[in-house]
Amino acid sequence: MKRNITRKSKQLLQLEVLLARLSSNYPKYYKIKEQHARELAGYLGESSLYYHFNFLEITDGYHLTSIRIRGKQFYFQIDHLILTQCVCFIIEVKHRKGLVKCSERGQYIQEYNGQQKVFEDPYLQALIQKKQLEYLLAIHNFPLLPIHPIVVFSHDQSLLDTSIQTPNVVTLQQFADYLNETYRSYKQVFINKHTLKSLNQLLIESNTQLTTNLQERYLIKKTDLKLGVLCQSCKQNILMRCLVGNWECPRCLTKDKLAHKDALRHFAVLYKPTIMNHEAKWWLKLDSANTSYRLLKQTAKSYTGKNKGRIYDLSNLIT
Ligand SMILES: [Zn+2]
Repeated sequence: MKRNITRKSKQLLQLEVLLARLSSNYPKYYKIKEQHARELAGYLGESSLYYHFNFLEITDGYHLTSIRIRGKQFYFQIDHLILTQCVCFIIEVKHRKGLVKCSERGQYIQEYNGQQKVFEDPYLQALIQKKQLEYLLAIHNFPLLPIHPIVVFSHDQSLLDTSIQTPNVVTLQQFADYLNETYRSYKQVFINKHTLKSLNQLLIESNTQLTTNLQERYLIKKTDLKLGVLCQSCKQNILMRCLVGNWECPRCLTKDKLAHKDALRHFAVLYKPTIMNHEAKWWLKLDSANTSYRLLKQTAKSYTGKNKGRIYDLSNLIT
C-alpha cells in the first residue's frame, strides 16, 4: 500500500513557535496553549496508528493522511483514508484518555480525573465525511465505491464503555483486526487500478491545508515575540550567546554550532520560506550583518539576487 506520512500541520508548527517565543504573561498565551494541546493530540492520535497499519492485510491501494478537501458546501477533513478497489475506509482518530461513553441521547462523554467532558459524536463526524466524499466521487464521475467509516480511540489509556454500541467504533488494539475482517467482507471490485490511481491523485491535488493567520487571531505583534536563538536544552526561552563559530547558553552552558538553524526554521514557519540578510540579523538578534550573512550561507538551500537584495531560500528547513 502506498502511504503518505502524517506530518505536523503548518498550524501546529506555528503554535509551537509562538509558545516558544511568547512570554507566558502574554494575554492570549493560555488560549494558544489550549489550541496547541488540541492540535498536538490530533497529530499524536494520527501518528499512533502507524505501528498498527503494519498489520493490515491490504497490499494494494493508497493510504492518505490528514487530508482537507472542499466538499459540497464546506471543507471536510479526514485523518486517514485507505483506498482499495473494493472499499474505501475513512478512519477518524480520537486521542482521548479515560472512560469514554455514550449517553442515551447519543452524546459522547469523556470521564477523566473526576471530570466529565461532552464531545461531538465521532461516528457522526465520520458519516458526514462519508457523505462529502461520496459527493466528490459523483461530481468527478468516479464509480461509487463503498465507503466504510471507522472511529479509533487511539490513546492507550482510553477505555470504551459498553454504552458505545456502534461496531465501527474501536480501540487501538482492536483496530487492525477489525479493519482486516471488514476488508475481507468487501469482495466485489468497483474500480480498476488505473481509476483508483487517478482518484488518489485527485485527492492529493485537492488537499488544502488550513491557513488561519494565527498572529492575527491572537493579536500578536512582531514586538511581542522573543528574538534570537533559543536554547534547546533549557526549554525556558533562554537566549543563546553568539561566540565565534558557536552558540552558548548562559544558563546551562550548552554549546551548539547549529543552534541558529532552528531559529531560522522558526522564521520560515511563522512568516515565509525565504529571508533576506537584514531580516536574519534582526530575527537572530545579531550585531553584525557579516555574521548573519555567514550563517545564512551555510544554512539556506540556495539564494537568488545580489548584494543587499539577495533572497535566501529556507524551504529545506520546513519540509
Ligand atoms: Zn540552556
